[in-house]
Amino acid sequence: MSFVAKFNALPQETLLKRSSSATETNVRGTLTKSRLTLADFVGLISPAASDLLEPLCRRSQALTQQRFGKVIRLFAPLYLSNECVNNCKYCGFSRDNPILRVTLSVDEVLREARALKEQGFRNILLVAGEHPRFVSKNYVANCVRALHDEFPSISLEVGPMETEDYRPIVRAGAEGLVVYQETYDRAVYAELHTAGPKRDFNWRMETPERAYAAGFRRLGIGALFGLADWRFEALCVAAHADYLLRNCWKAQLTISLPRLRPCAGQFEPLTRMTDRDLVQLVCAFRLMFPDAGLVLSTREPAKLRDGLVPLGITLMSAGSHTEPGGYTGAGKEHLHQTVRGRIVEMGASEWATTRNDEVHATGQFDIADERSPQEVAERIRRLGYEPVWKDWDAALTA
Ligand code: SF4
Repeated sequence: MSFVAKFNALPQETLLKRSSSATETNVRGTLTKSRLTLADFVGLISPAASDLLEPLCRRSQALTQQRFGKVIRLFAPLYLSNECVNNCKYCGFSRDNPILRVTLSVDEVLREARALKEQGFRNILLVAGEHPRFVSKNYVANCVRALHDEFPSISLEVGPMETEDYRPIVRAGAEGLVVYQETYDRAVYAELHTAGPKRDFNWRMETPERAYAAGFRRLGIGALFGLADWRFEALCVAAHADYLLRNCWKAQLTISLPRLRPCAGQFEPLTRMTDRDLVQLVCAFRLMFPDAGLVLSTREPAKLRDGLVPLGITLMSAGSHTEPGGYTGAGKEHLHQTVRGRIVEMGASEWATTRNDEVHATGQFDIADERSPQEVAERIRRLGYEPVWKDWDAALTA
């Protein structure tokens, strides 16, 4: 049975009612348990648990240190392309946005990757919009192949594919696949995804299973907070994670907690998730899934990221650029502007990224933590944790 069938049968309303009526006593009881169910999890994300943040944080911190040690793994996103055939109202790369676009050549991707290597990174996430013509399965496989010798850990966050299309990419050396459902609320999903193959909610939700069948050994999931009620999304992510841990058990699982950031198109969040809610959710995920990686990106400001280091996070991006060519300026000769998916004569785009008076491709969203990777690593050290740049080597599993 795929997760779609499980999801359709999930007693969402009952569980959310249980969350809203949970008491401090219920939550304190859950904090003493070693194995939790979804019914326990909804207590941890309840309003009652929000008043017990201190004990929640203490338990999460202890569990994280026990399972992972005092270590934060660092990675960087490398954007291959910002072409996209989808319209997702909350994303700067949406097809209809009049932005500056480019797809890097494999050589340019290598240049970008080497700039990241210079900074220390060995763990990279290749990111691209969904455009089968520009970001084809062969192109993605070629990029992975070009980087494989120099980067022991390559993950992908690109448009979902069929299992058979993933196989050559895995053979080329990719070992992780990240795909966010964005929102698990079917009505909100339909409202926000107005054009393109991404409109198919179920197909997207089954992507981690197809990726696992193709041989990916790291799976990343998450919701984009700011679209639907955060407690609802958290419950669905937890149900999804629980399913993947049982059914794709050879894979390592990571859960990301991205919140919406400003981007081209100026979409405003539909719902609010406060910093306090985010801290509560990090702890709740840790208690529910003691061995899952929890990922925090540069979408969050430096101070909050530093505060979350000891509380359950295990993976962080640093020094990120969300535009293709962001690390070296690669690809800027091939920039073009599109309006509603059609290439038009280059004009001044209000969404272009400019650095040192040079025009670059448009980024997916604005980042909040603008520190360099070295500054982030130094801060992690000062907090008593070890920043780790490389956390996987294919030779270890050979
Ligand atoms: S979220 Fe992904 S699929 Fe949607 S517009 Fe952005 S890049 Fe394209």
